[in-house]
Amino acid sequence: MAQNEQQAIEALLARHGFHFSKSKGQNFLIDRAVPRAIAEASGADETNGVLEIGPGVGALSSELCRRAGRVVAVELDTALLPILDETMADFDNFSVVSADVLKLDLPALVRERFGGLTPIVCANLPYNITTPALTALIEAKCFESLTVLIQREVAQRLCAAPGTAAYGAFSVFMQYYTEPELCFEVPPEKFIPRPKVTSAVLRAEMRREPPVAVADEAYFFRTVYAAFALRRKTLVNSLMTAFGALGKDKLAQLVVSCGLDANVRGERLGLEEFARLSDALREAEG
Ligand code: SAM
Repeated sequence: MAQNEQQAIEALLARHGFHFSKSKGQNFLIDRAVPRAIAEASGADETNGVLEIGPGVGALSSELCRRAGRVVAVELDTALLPILDETMADFDNFSVVSADVLKLDLPALVRERFGGLTPIVCANLPYNITTPALTALIEAKCFESLTVLIQREVAQRLCAAPGTAAYGAFSVFMQYYTEPELCFEVPPEKFIPRPKVTSAVLRAEMRREPPVAVADEAYFFRTVYAAFALRRKTLVNSLMTAFGALGKDKLAQLVVSCGLDANVRGERLGLEEFARLSDALREAEG
C-alpha cells in the first residue's frame, strides 16, 4: 500500500519537475495511515479552523479538510503551489498562504481567515524550524491546541520531567504554556526522503490559566534561561550569568530562602520552584 502511495507521489513530483530541498526541511509522508492518525490526534472537527505549516503535496491537508471547518496552510516553497492546486482541487475549505510562517502575523491571519471557528494547529513541521515555529505558535496566544510531528528527541525534551537529562529551558517554556503529551512515533521509512531520526507526534493543549502564579512572566523566563545557562554547574553559578550584579552570596541566600539546597542544579527545579525563585530574584533586584 505505502509502496504504491510512494510511487504515486514520486510520479506527481516528477511530472511537476519538483526537487526536494533539505534546507526547507522537506520530508513528505508517504503512508496515508500516518497523516490520518495525525489528523485524528489533533481532534479537528467542523468547529475548527486549522492552521497547517508546510502542506507539501497535501498528504495531511486532505485529512484535515475532511474533518475541519477550514484549513489554511502556509507554504514557503512556491514550487509546491501548482502541485497543491492539483491535489487539493476537491476541497473548497482549503487555502494556501504562500509565505514563511516565521514572518507572519499569526493572530491577524487567524482573525482574517477563521471567522468564528476555533483555531488549532496541525502540522508535520519542517525540522529545521521546530523551535522558532513552536515558540511563535505559543506566543501568538490564539490557538487552542498544537498537534505536530517533530523529531522524537525534541518531543521527549518538551515533555521531560525535572531532574531528567532531557529537561531544559524549552521544556519549562512548553509546560508553562501548554500541557504537552507524546502521542505516537513515526519511523523514518514513512517519509520520502527518509530522515535520519525517528519522529513523534506531540499534542499540546494550550493552558487557559498559567499553572503557577508569577509576578512577572518575562522575569520568570529570564530566571529559567539563566538557571540552564551552565548545565553542569550549580544553580547559583548558573544564575550568575544573568543576575551577577546581586553577587554570589546573595544569590545563594535567595536560593536557600526558596527552600532549595545551596548546591542544587537548575535542572532539578519544577515550575513551582522556578516561580518562587523568580519572584524572590525580582524582589531582590528591586
Ligand atoms: N505536510 C507535508 C507532509 O506531511 O508530507 C510536508 C511536510 S515537510 C516535513 C515540511 C514542509 O514545510 C515542506 O512543504 C516545506 O516546503 C515547508 N516549509 C519549510 N519551511 C517553511 C517555513 N518557514 N514556512 C512555511 N513552510 C515551510
